[in-house]
Amino acid sequence: MRTLAPLFTAILLLSPVAGQAQTLQDVATALGAANLKSIEIQGSGATFQVGQSQAPGMPWPQFTAKSFARLVNYDAALLREDAVRIRTLEPPRGGGPYVRGEQRQVFVLSGEHTWNVVADAAVPAPFALADRQFQLWSTPHGVVKAAQAGRGSMQGRTIAFAVPGRFRATATVDASNLIERVDATLTNPVLGDMAVTVSYAEYRDFGGVKFPTKIRQTYGGFPSMDITVTDVRSNVAAEIPVPDNVRQAPIPSTRVTSQMAADGVFYITGGTHHSVAIEMKDHVIVVEAPLNDERALAVLAEVRTLIPNKPIRYVVVSHQHFDHAGGVRAAAGEGITLVAHETSKAFFERVITLPATVSPDHLAKSGKKATVEGVRDRRVLSDGTRSVEIRHIAGILHADDLLMVYLPKEKILIEADAYTPPAPNVAPMTPPNPFTVSLVENITKQGLAVDQILPLHGRIVPVAELLKAAGHSH
Ligand SMILES: [Zn+2]
Repeated sequence: MRTLAPLFTAILLLSPVAGQAQTLQDVATALGAANLKSIEIQGSGATFQVGQSQAPGMPWPQFTAKSFARLVNYDAALLREDAVRIRTLEPPRGGGPYVRGEQRQVFVLSGEHTWNVVADAAVPAPFALADRQFQLWSTPHGVVKAAQAGRGSMQGRTIAFAVPGRFRATATVDASNLIERVDATLTNPVLGDMAVTVSYAEYRDFGGVKFPTKIRQTYGGFPSMDITVTDVRSNVAAEIPVPDNVRQAPIPSTRVTSQMAADGVFYITGGTHHSVAIEMKDHVIVVEAPLNDERALAVLAEVRTLIPNKPIRYVVVSHQHFDHAGGVRAAAGEGITLVAHETSKAFFERVITLPATVSPDHLAKSGKKATVEGVRDRRVLSDGTRSVEIRHIAGILHADDLLMVYLPKEKILIEADAYTPPAPNVAPMTPPNPFTVSLVENITKQGLAVDQILPLHGRIVPVAELLKAAGHSH
């Protein structure tokens, strides 16, 4: 078994406010942490899809967690979460995977490896590393074990701990020497330093180990989890080997491939989230800077190779969901003008001024400034030979600010999340995905003549595939 040493050499202990003397030993004793190697909790409640709100400033979409289980092995730095959830609203408002009915989610962290289990297959989830490490070490016993294995000490009623580059946190201890809350700053591609809170309440004794029966969390100011714990078991078997495909996975976000969809129109793929580059007379327009710095900078580098000697003037942002807007700060760090829907303009103006101190990103290091331009219903960017029409997808419930990009001469439509083509021999959802229905309504109402769809997930398809998915048989 791996030891804690490599992780804890990375943990810093800071010195917060002084208060009445309590020691880590008091807290460990109160929690029954001394001989605890692993713990398994069961519960239910609500979980929320962080970064996928219907509009900036609105709460994260809610799911009912019918069951919620967590297994933690502190010695192996292992966390496994297994939840069965169902959307609280159907049709949904906002983003996140659109699955009707129950959806099982299995998330695993083992040391520096993260993956999800989807239909018995391990899918690497490298972006989740910082968050899952935070979830592991911010558990009540995790706080104590992190601190005990580190070099610092508790001060007053607070225990400060951090994994550099990932998060920093301060836990507060109550009068009974139990952890009552954790206030943390996590690194986030969109928000830079993102505020996270965890509160623990109504502790109960589970065979000598104290554990809270109420766990509430907020991410970026909105609820992300509200779980009632019903069962806790200590020192259960908790060994999960890292699957070979996870151990060997390359960094997927920088892999970029591209193809020409029309003269001067490049479909840039290679990962989960695509972009499109459009060559104008004396500049380039890029649609979408997704995921994070790594992905967005790799996409911009590819565009500069494909279209040398012309500056990238605009990045069009399809919408404010964190996976699609994760490269906005990187684009701003290149001094590129952002184009977003009017309702998200103020949000992005704020995003590109936010600090990123936990993990300084491209924007924080560049010191550059960028501007954000808004689009309400429609805006046409033209150089006299080519027109690029940025249009709002009105009334769609996925996101209030969802934009599509239409190239009238090429009869190409670029869109994200309204329609994602399924694999070639997979039947479309029935009844149809309401977002896809909205997209087709918008194409019709706005009188667009479309031949090809360039979706920002999936693959290029003829418009007939979209119509079929929306329930139009011909
Ligand atoms: Zn979305």
